[in-house]
Amino acid sequence: MPSIVIHALIPPLVLLATRRFAPRDVLLLLPFSLLPDLDFFIPPHRALVHSVFLPVAALVLWWRWRARQPHEADLALLAGFYLFSHSFMDLFAGGVTPFWPLSDATFYIDTSILIDTRTLQPYPTFNPGEQQGVPEVSPVFEFFNGDHAAILALTLVVAGIWAWRRSHRIHRTVVVSAPEERLGRQP
Ligand SMILES: [Zn+2]
Repeated sequence: MPSIVIHALIPPLVLLATRRFAPRDVLLLLPFSLLPDLDFFIPPHRALVHSVFLPVAALVLWWRWRARQPHEADLALLAGFYLFSHSFMDLFAGGVTPFWPLSDATFYIDTSILIDTRTLQPYPTFNPGEQQGVPEVSPVFEFFNGDHAAILALTLVVAGIWAWRRSHRIHRTVVVSAPEERLGRQP
């Protein structure tokens, strides 16, 4: 799988960029972006909770609720998107078995671009494929690497500055507005 950093960071940022959902709901449902990897403890991994059936069930709930319970419908849609995003990204990192238990066909897309730094010659790879059987769990898994650290560090720095500016602005608004409110109450 891509790192937890990728699974838990990219989908909510994409959702927030659409401005379609309340940021609080986007954060509330975030655990669904990692939920599929629970099947590591209940094999077959990449099959049981990585199938398309859970996102489809969420989509059905959204369809049923969208008219009378729009907020609940939004939550179902968010959960479904997070579940889908997880399996979709796993497609590029080892593959998933999307129709398990009806089929144990695993689909994957191996893609990369290597560059010879002396000649600047690129060597692109794009190799989508299918194989029978659920993906085997590698004996060693690179849980966290330099790319993930860089993404996480930049996000934390920007989030920290944003949070500091926000609290600073709220404090300034309270201080500046207080005398005006007192003036407004004078007869
Ligand atoms: Zn996964």
